[in-house]
Amino acid sequence: MTTADLAGQTSAGARLLAAARAVIPGGVNSATRLVGPPHALTAASGAYVTDADGRRYLDYHAAFGAILLGHAAPEVDEAVRAAVGGLDLVGWGVTEPEVELARLVTETIPSAEQMISTMSGSEATAQAVRLSRAVTGRPLIVKFQGGFHGWHDAVARNVISAPDRAYGSDPLSGGILPEALGSTLIAEFNDLDSVRALYEAHPDRIAAVIMEPIPHNVGALVPSREFVEGLRALTTERGSLLIFDEVITGFRHALGGYQQICGVLPDLTTFGKAMGNGYPIAGLAGPRRLMEHFSSAGGDVLLAGTFNGNPVSSAAAIATIEYLRGHPDFYERTHALGDRMRAGLDAACAELGIAGTAAGFGGVFALYFAESPIRGYRDLMRNDDAAYVAFHRRMTERGFLMLPLTLKRNHISAAHTAEDVDRTLEAARDVLRTIRD
Ligand code: PLP
Repeated sequence: MTTADLAGQTSAGARLLAAARAVIPGGVNSATRLVGPPHALTAASGAYVTDADGRRYLDYHAAFGAILLGHAAPEVDEAVRAAVGGLDLVGWGVTEPEVELARLVTETIPSAEQMISTMSGSEATAQAVRLSRAVTGRPLIVKFQGGFHGWHDAVARNVISAPDRAYGSDPLSGGILPEALGSTLIAEFNDLDSVRALYEAHPDRIAAVIMEPIPHNVGALVPSREFVEGLRALTTERGSLLIFDEVITGFRHALGGYQQICGVLPDLTTFGKAMGNGYPIAGLAGPRRLMEHFSSAGGDVLLAGTFNGNPVSSAAAIATIEYLRGHPDFYERTHALGDRMRAGLDAACAELGIAGTAAGFGGVFALYFAESPIRGYRDLMRNDDAAYVAFHRRMTERGFLMLPLTLKRNHISAAHTAEDVDRTLEAARDVLRTIRD
């Protein structure tokens, strides 16, 4: 929406956005927050968010997946309140909460012996890439078309591309040196041969393969067993590291992340988002033999960060993980609700004669506007992007918050109920009818 359009609007959202644009470029602090009409958000509780114009939304956006237990989860808020007013930030020595958090994480993530704490997922993946290069002495990284690992240079290629640009040179941002972009190679998810071909073309030069074990940044592609096991074997055989970027899947699908579910262990794991249930914290974990390359342990990989391991974020993450440990039924519940949603969406598409495929895993769901099977990014080229965006936009207009961008996924939290899912499906059926007609 242009600033001139905003001037004619009277909603509180439009007014705040106009004020925001004077002092924040574009009015928002992360580019994909501003899609659709302007909204000023004022409150969030449980499964709902409320805007300044009095609208209430059932929230499946979940702050891009950072909300897992519901907004303002009492257990997390209490832990944060208890932390505030005690030790804030000293930047010297070691603090109890960061140690407790690392203990919990290394107990729960199967491949983790040690962890470092960062403030964001991007910092965690940046450290993972740098560590891989330092350990192997090699320059190149492999990522998959459609995968997103944060905003930094090493992973700023081939995120979600228009079909004509997929697999080509597709930088996420200006201002990145061609050498940096050229040091990242692109493969096709669920296609081991595409990775083998890169090893043939660049022998002894690939430091690591980084992957979202389920690429939720393009909805939800589920890896085949042969693919993950094959990647594990291939990277080991070729002397590279395998990095699971579990920033979305971590803690969300299982306490030990997707690696616990598939039984394949990466060398390094990054995680973030849901682990703090909305508070800023992320991390990188791996075996001691790799993690001790960080400068904190005398290695040559710089570990620095003023806010790393800060007591308040650590308290939020400890409370989130303890909640999950104390409520193993959380996973059964959210997975069952996810199944109910996917089955309902598939049934609605079948009933209405729409070529749709409900995809997802656990509490994450997406509705592709394409016939199954959808295994990799190439299959997603068949997705009807306009229908996908229209579906999300019209659902949001009806009070079911689903980010209106193509291939964005939706999240079910501990605060959603079966009634919520059924209400959503009822609305989805109506919206799908409008899309078909
Ligand atoms: N990795 C994945 C899989 C992500 O989805 C994201 C963010 O969406 C990141 C890394 C970057 O995390 P952050 O936004 O906390 O920097």
